[in-house]
Amino acid sequence: PYDGLSRDEVIALRKQYVSPGVITYYREPMMVVEGHMQYVWDDQGTRYLDAFAGIVTVSVGHCHPKIVEKVKEQTGKLQHTTTIYLHPTIAQFAEKLAEKMPDGLTRSYFTNSGSEANEVAILSAREHTGNTQVIGLRNGYHGGTATTMGLTAHGSWKFKSNNAPGIVHTHAGYCYRCPYGLEYPSCDLKCAHDVKEVIEYQTSGEVACFIGEPIQGVGGAVVPPKEYFQIVYDIVRQHGGICIADEVQGGFGRTGKHFWSHQNYDVVPDAITMAKGIGNGIPLGAFTTTEEISEVMTNKIHFNTYGGNPISMTQGLATLEVIEEDGIQQNALEVGNHLKDGFLALQEKHDIIGDVRGMGLMLGVELVRDRKTKEPANTEASDVMEAMKQRGVLLGKGGLYGNTLRIKPPMCITKDDANYLLAMLDEVLGE
Ligand code: PMP
Repeated sequence: PYDGLSRDEVIALRKQYVSPGVITYYREPMMVVEGHMQYVWDDQGTRYLDAFAGIVTVSVGHCHPKIVEKVKEQTGKLQHTTTIYLHPTIAQFAEKLAEKMPDGLTRSYFTNSGSEANEVAILSAREHTGNTQVIGLRNGYHGGTATTMGLTAHGSWKFKSNNAPGIVHTHAGYCYRCPYGLEYPSCDLKCAHDVKEVIEYQTSGEVACFIGEPIQGVGGAVVPPKEYFQIVYDIVRQHGGICIADEVQGGFGRTGKHFWSHQNYDVVPDAITMAKGIGNGIPLGAFTTTEEISEVMTNKIHFNTYGGNPISMTQGLATLEVIEEDGIQQNALEVGNHLKDGFLALQEKHDIIGDVRGMGLMLGVELVRDRKTKEPANTEASDVMEAMKQRGVLLGKGGLYGNTLRIKPPMCITKDDANYLLAMLDEVLGE
């Protein structure tokens, strides 16, 4: 049993010494002290099904035994020297990552977070094209650094003082709340074609890049229509920009059918950014692109002290191996389909479920007070999360109004876990 600081002691210390900007979930913040595969335990020894995976970070399971073993071994041998010296792990991991990439995307730059990976991606796009303007998506999230905060398009995440210039936003393909009030497919993908007007009216007409999440994470599992990214990528390329897929949440098999979420739309980006699931919970991010684009990082000296360190590289390599060995992607497909079917069945029964979205184990359930007006049921979403926690299930929440439940568990989750989650959600929504 856990015998460390009590929850109250931790709360008191945090109040005094930790920045109030470090937020917690739940009315009574929970203290998680142990994890194994799809479960975590609190300080009282209560087990929870972790259906949010540390915000979609634990990809193959908390403390996966193989990964723990490999990292322990590396920690005992060499933890860090920086990339000014050679080490096998960065080369091995970059090679293995390239094997998973679309053709031509072979060169990786490693960082410690998704925000940094996106910073490097945008820097590369600007250096490569000689243009500065960046196109992002409404409702998107890309990080908390200056450029990525500017790129993030949710007012609640944007500090007044920190909106980086040179970024404009286009429509996201959020069909449930179509800004034009149209319906797919008769809409003719007006939202995707709009990027042309955004470029023509709001930029010089020449852009550095487009960057978008193929399935929006923080935005609440928004999945645009199949043709959406083909149209947007074409228009952006016609205006001189490269196309970057932010796979921080959707990558590494999570969407089930494909290893990368952008593959669900039959497009090939010029670069991919990654974090979270890439390292099963370790601080690790990456930017992978073509040989040609990767060369611009030599224009000046660029250095990241911890990027590519032996511990993170070992963890990343072991995570990729486990994804293959444990059949993780297939499980994401099967259990994900089962869960989605379950949510759709619950939608028939509970009026509060306005929309069920997503693929594989990247799912969203949008709650509304009225199916006609689609008034967001945000306080209700918080109530559902609290009630699910009391029943031993941790969920996430997102969307502009905070009214979309986010279900993105470690991809080792079983059908039994999924059935438990569905039964509990049925009970909670019934109340
Ligand atoms: N991109 C996406 C799609 C994300 O969801 C996040 C984190 N929520 C980031 C980038 C930023 O990653 P990090 O928090 O590691 O900087």
